[in-house]
Amino acid sequence: MKAVVFHGIGDIRLDDVPEPELQRSEDAIVRLTASAICGTDLHFVRGTMAGVKPGRILGHEGVGVVEELGERVRNFDPGDRVVICSTIACGACSYCRAGYYAQCDRANPNAPGTAFFGGPEEAGGFDGLQAERARIPYAHTGLVRLPDEVSDEQAILLSDIFPTGWFGAALAEVGPGDTVAVFGAGPVGVFSVISARLMGAGRILCIDQHEDRLDMARRAGAETIDFTAEDPIDAIRELTGGVGPDRAIDAVGIDAEHAHSSRTETADEEFAAEVDEVAPEHGEGGHFTPGDAPSMALRWAVRSLAKAGTLGIIGVYPPQAHTFPIGEAMNKNLTIKAGNCNHRRYVPRLIELVRSGVVDPQQAITQLEGVRGAVEAYEAFDERRAGWLKVELEPAA
Ligand SMILES: [Zn+2]
Ligand SMILES: [Zn+2]
Repeated sequence: MKAVVFHGIGDIRLDDVPEPELQRSEDAIVRLTASAICGTDLHFVRGTMAGVKPGRILGHEGVGVVEELGERVRNFDPGDRVVICSTIACGACSYCRAGYYAQCDRANPNAPGTAFFGGPEEAGGFDGLQAERARIPYAHTGLVRLPDEVSDEQAILLSDIFPTGWFGAALAEVGPGDTVAVFGAGPVGVFSVISARLMGAGRILCIDQHEDRLDMARRAGAETIDFTAEDPIDAIRELTGGVGPDRAIDAVGIDAEHAHSSRTETADEEFAAEVDEVAPEHGEGGHFTPGDAPSMALRWAVRSLAKAGTLGIIGVYPPQAHTFPIGEAMNKNLTIKAGNCNHRRYVPRLIELVRSGVVDPQQAITQLEGVRGAVEAYEAFDERRAGWLKVELEPAA
């Protein structure tokens, strides 16, 4: 079968690979009908999240049809349409039972960290979903059945993007009347805006530098700030009567791009040292180079928040990232919450929001590519080329 395979930093290829097989009694084999490229995949290819083994199939977002089931998967039948949760969880340990699926005690054979598809060995070393078929471990928990009314184009955003945006708003403790600042207007940022609105936020500010992304955030209900046109901290202060937002969501993560702003001037050398710390093997120039300001979004979020505000961090940071403005946060009595999304906790109810028409996530898909065009699609997405916000891949095309 065809699959997108990682060969090294800056080197991904469309390869012919063997079909997956059932290995354990809780496994399922799913034939993918939709997959997608995610910003997280770019972290691996850029080298800002290290440890992906050459030969690993990439991708952690998928929708498909169940083909085969291990004998201990009792809640599905072959032919069922399903969305696949990006993180892998056993459903039986105490963490899963408490809703902390991303901290499952049993799913990751290699470490205590979050297990997910198409990631580093530290994340379990599972082959990913940018392929024609995939093996799904703990399928009784990781698969969620799709109603006929929800299309593949809608469902592919329920695999990771919408739940992660929702999780960000939940971490930030968004409640009725709150003013919320969302840093980053990529797909996850836009779904953080949508989720904050559904949780009753009074005002939502969204900060980015790409006009197509800011457009989408505005359509989702945000007041937008282009940080290349104005100082984002000054703009946020002005819009909030000098107080700052009650809640902030970091939907940017480690590959932030440096913007020179007067209120949070950070020296280029300081950021360069951070890049060396998080991505010692990164490339220079051309495709798949890391962002040049790893802690930018965190610095802005902490600086802009109102006293006693809450920061939810869903942007991805590797374990070796150490820079956080702890002094400023401590002296403002901020609450900081962070983590990998507990997808399985949110996916069932988000399917209902889509089924009932409250949210149509398909609006966030800007590109549809056959898997044969996957490498070019990665490059266009990496360049943040205008209009390339979210790429859906058709595994069979
Ligand atoms: Zn993703
Ligand atoms: Zn578990």
